[in-house]
Amino acid sequence: MAPLRVAALESLTDHVVEDAVEEVGFDALTVGRRIRHHRQVRGLTLAQLGESVGAAQSQLSQVENGKREPRLSLITAIARALEVAPAELLDPAPPPGRRAALEIELDAAQRSPLARELGLTAVRSSRKLPTDALEALVELHRELARRHDASNATPEEARRANTEIRLLMRAVDNHLPEIEELAEDLVRSAGYTVGALTHRQVARMAADLGFSIIHVEDLPHSTRTVTDLANGRIYLPPASIPGGHGLRSLALQAIGHRVLGHERPASYTQFLRQRLEINYFAACCLLPRSAAVEFLSAAKADKDLAVEDFRDAFGVTHEAAAHRLTNLLTSHLGIPVHFLRVGDDGALYRGFENDGVPFPQDTSGAIEGQPVCRRWTARTVFAERNRTTENYQYTDTPAGTFWCSSQTGSSVDGGFSITVGVPYAHAKWFRGRDTRVRAVSTCPDGTCCRRPPGELVEKWAEAAWPSARLHAQTLAPLPSGRFPGVDDREVYSFLASHAPRD
Ligand SMILES: [Zn+2]
Repeated sequence: MAPLRVAALESLTDHVVEDAVEEVGFDALTVGRRIRHHRQVRGLTLAQLGESVGAAQSQLSQVENGKREPRLSLITAIARALEVAPAELLDPAPPPGRRAALEIELDAAQRSPLARELGLTAVRSSRKLPTDALEALVELHRELARRHDASNATPEEARRANTEIRLLMRAVDNHLPEIEELAEDLVRSAGYTVGALTHRQVARMAADLGFSIIHVEDLPHSTRTVTDLANGRIYLPPASIPGGHGLRSLALQAIGHRVLGHERPASYTQFLRQRLEINYFAACCLLPRSAAVEFLSAAKADKDLAVEDFRDAFGVTHEAAAHRLTNLLTSHLGIPVHFLRVGDDGALYRGFENDGVPFPQDTSGAIEGQPVCRRWTARTVFAERNRTTENYQYTDTPAGTFWCSSQTGSSVDGGFSITVGVPYAHAKWFRGRDTRVRAVSTCPDGTCCRRPPGELVEKWAEAAWPSARLHAQTLAPLPSGRFPGVDDREVYSFLASHAPRD
């Protein structure tokens, strides 16, 4: 039921109230309980009220118990008899009194989709039901709803929500102009002009919003930051490296929740959406659009676009710079683009494309956790010895030829690669376009790089017994061959290279 705006209703005539009720409907039990409340306040019995409005006592009793929807004419008559406005009786808020509030909550819980799905027996909250039993039932329903919500984000649903948001962002070229605008204004008022955003400017942005940034050693393990809304404080972990870049981003994300007016997320999709928005906001602050587009346009004019230069000019990580490119390259420079973060296990952790590069997908369309083609730059780069510069490669795929630039790094979770790529026709704007490195990928065709070569299968299929390592951090398991979660090809090659020579 949509909430009625009571203040606005108070001054309306019965006729208008009728229209309003027709539009939004009302909750019979709430109305009934409000009638009972006002009747008792007036010290009237059901019979006395019935007499003054010309209705049978039994009929009024049914109305008060929510068993019968009163006609508007009856509500207005009752309101007149009880000397209250009709809007007072139609107010969707529970009437005063704990008992009435509990009765209404139980009634609503028993009619909820969850209760119906579970086929729960409904209990009538008549006066015979003791208040403590009523309270216990309401508590049970609350707990049931809470547990249901908590279990809602199953891996399956998480993947669906991820995919939904990815496709949404693809449709807008990974560009959210309102957030760009907002971030630009805020960094400018904090004194930003060009280059890297300083810690001092981030602190000023927080202060402008009434927050101070405080570093603490004992943040809860499950949090990245905590904001104290009552006292205007943003708590961050301590800086492990003086001037470390990660903290600016964390502080900006916390600020993002405030300036973007986020409410507590009601669903997993909304949670992800907010997460995306604060990341986007932080990226817009660290690489503000005006300065970033100016920098990139100049590099494009020189045919010398490079992630590493963009990264160094703004003092951010390679990943942050590469991902920020996806926000701006298409929308401001007319270049379609793709981005991947791939683990050294070959799984795709984060990806964006609007250039048609064929990302690996599961049947639901999710890309997270899917194995990337072994021939792609994102994986061939792991074999490179030189990690001080980007590595470039042209890759022929079933969707055309792409030029890509990859850089490797390592984190506590292991090695990873960051890749930015564009269709062949757009390679001309980038440093590294003259690379001689070429590869051919026919994935998702299994013969490309997934199926083990025939001679290895013949030799090892019956002799290999690997034990799978679980990929807890990815949303989907890696491809399964004969053993779930285990890559046959890797196992056989490993065994082949370590087997005693015969
Ligand atoms: Zn492949």
